[in-house]
Amino acid sequence: MIVIVGGGTAGITVAARLVRAGKAGQVTLIEPSEKHYYQPLWTLVGGGITTVAESLRQEKDLIPHGVEWVKEKVASFQPEENQVTLASGKTLAYDYLIVAPGIQIDWNKVEGLVESIGKDGVCSNYDQRFVDSTWTSLQAVREGDVVFTMPSTPVKCGGAPQKIAYLAADYLKQHGLAGKTRVHFYSAGAKLFAVPEFEKVLSQTVARYGIQTHFRQDLVKVDAARKVAIFKNMDTGALTEQPYAMLHVTPPMSAPDFIKSSPLANQAGWIEADIKTLQHPRFLNVFALGDAAGLPTSKTGAAIRKQAPVLVSNLLAVMEKKAPTATYDGYTSCPVVTGYGRLVMAEFDYDNNVKQSFPFIDQKKERWDMYMVKRHLLPQMYWHGMLKGLL
Ligand SMILES: Cc1cc2nc3c(=O)[nH]c(=O)nc-3n(C[C@H](O)[C@H](O)[C@H](O)COP(=O)(O)OP(=O)(O)OC[C@H]3O[C@@H](n4cnc5c(N)ncnc54)[C@H](O)[C@@H]3O)c2cc1C
Repeated sequence: MIVIVGGGTAGITVAARLVRAGKAGQVTLIEPSEKHYYQPLWTLVGGGITTVAESLRQEKDLIPHGVEWVKEKVASFQPEENQVTLASGKTLAYDYLIVAPGIQIDWNKVEGLVESIGKDGVCSNYDQRFVDSTWTSLQAVREGDVVFTMPSTPVKCGGAPQKIAYLAADYLKQHGLAGKTRVHFYSAGAKLFAVPEFEKVLSQTVARYGIQTHFRQDLVKVDAARKVAIFKNMDTGALTEQPYAMLHVTPPMSAPDFIKSSPLANQAGWIEADIKTLQHPRFLNVFALGDAAGLPTSKTGAAIRKQAPVLVSNLLAVMEKKAPTATYDGYTSCPVVTGYGRLVMAEFDYDNNVKQSFPFIDQKKERWDMYMVKRHLLPQMYWHGMLKGLL
């Protein structure tokens, strides 16, 4: 029996590939949610280009035939006994385990955020409950400071915090509000992007919009009563108060708590996995992929598209008592929307080498065709290709 924990992007993709590999009837998927979201669309929802409804499908319609769905949460792992314990207290035995429960959003790590998020100009694209408030907040801006944040923790889609800043800057420009507003991008990081080629073009984007960047600054408090965001300098500890008309928060994130406290976790709390084969180094019948896996790459659905075939190939090898030889090179992709109809398609690997999927064009610049790929082609590839185990 193969058990998959988590029926998000990674879990469904792997389940579909296993069924295609002849494992129908041998796969159980543990997933508590009846809803499945294509989260990359939320950037466009926040920018008023599409709706949350377009990003939503029913989980039951995505689970491949031949896969049994256990609609529950996993509470803990007992890898020495090859079993997981569910929140209901029931246990489930497995021969092979694939762990893909995604990333946890830690709203409570920023003082005042739980109380303020989703209203009075405080918004976030990082949750389907709040993403509409991004668009509402942007439309309500008439003047003042429009503030975007990036935390000190790993996040899913590291480019998403700045995508919405560029869309907002473009929106304000198109609506004649550029002169009355100031757009700020506060980041706990030291620069815009890890890969120099993309850092260069995005710096030009920032300059074009006149966005004020503030690096090594981590959001620690939202004072909604005064409409002030408080940032801590990562080097000196000094606090800065930044008034806001709109505050888009990318919240701190971490491995899910039930992973952090499990025997499967590495020191940082993520599921330990060989960065090439995706096999757990201590429990050889366990594999991990997706946002919860301890892989030093940017956490994206695009990365999962390349991880899933490697994981399935290696799992099948291990099931046949062979060595796992397929390797993942850290490929990830961040389609950085830089305005309405503009996008930098950043693709790279563990070593920050650029890995273009479209070799005949220059992906190191803002392009309209790549925007159309994100807007129209990638969602279709997701629903009809990747989640069907075909891409
Ligand atoms: C605003 C935004 C923009 C993004 N933009 C892009 C982009 O442009 N390109 C891109 O490639 N990626 C993008 N991403 C990232 C992408 O959506 C994620 O990397 C991807 O969905 C991760 O897949 P996953 O399967 O690891 O986790 P998820 O898809 O989040 O799924 C995890 C699943 O595990 C389940 N689960 C949780 N806890 C348990 C438990 N205890 N037991 C059982 N199941 C559990 C959850 O219910 C969930 O269904 C974006 C994300 C956001 C939020």
